[in-house]
Amino acid sequence: MSDKISIAIDGPAGAGKSTIAKKVAGTLGFTYIDTGAMYRTMAYYCLREGISPDDEDAVSSVCDKIEVSLKYVEGVQHVLLNGEDVSGLIRTAEVGAAASKISVYPAVRNSLLDLQRNMAKTENVVMDGRDIGSVVLPDAPVKIFLTASVEERARRRYNEYVLAGQECDIEKIKKEIEERDHRDMTRETAPLVCAEGATVLDSSNMTIDEVCEAVIGLVKEAGCGDFDI
Ligand code: C5P
Repeated sequence: MSDKISIAIDGPAGAGKSTIAKKVAGTLGFTYIDTGAMYRTMAYYCLREGISPDDEDAVSSVCDKIEVSLKYVEGVQHVLLNGEDVSGLIRTAEVGAAASKISVYPAVRNSLLDLQRNMAKTENVVMDGRDIGSVVLPDAPVKIFLTASVEERARRRYNEYVLAGQECDIEKIKKEIEERDHRDMTRETAPLVCAEGATVLDSSNMTIDEVCEAVIGLVKEAGCGDFDI
């Protein structure tokens, strides 16, 4: 058995998982693993190859042609698609929507599961996603279900797109988030759920620092590791 520590953070789109996971990982000296980026990378491959994200057979049949890997440059995660760094290409609304569609397919999920589990075996990780506490790392000693109201999540995504110079409409973003939540929560394989043993944190009225403190508090409570924090 691995002696590595895993912190699992799941929750709906725009709840602030990646911001919190990154910050907590930095504080603890753990590796941050953004599993959403892996699904986005597979979706990006499909869009680039002209494969419809709605076509399960076509998407499933190319899974073995896609090798997703991660590398870290000065502590920042980069995601590679067959060796090509696509980190700057996967953060669009189009890729996000396609990722949500293809992540429903078992073949897609299976092709990423081992990669995610193996990373947690070899290093201390803070891993975020939708099914980390429930399926990928059900034995993680700390599990968080991070959520926020849909209005607040839409507002955050809107600000991210504006900052990135992308055109957007907040009502459209809200609708997309609701559709994405619905698809993530109702799919058959590894749906978004609050995992058994997970602590729910609603970040609607919390600052980033407050959420991080709450997570670190749970890490201390779980008594996993002796950190100078
Ligand atoms: O978190 P992010 O928005 O980057 O994830 C993109 C999509 O990938 C999500 O909407 C979800 O459908 C899917 N996903 C998933 N399981 C994960 C991470 C992401 O199904 N562990």
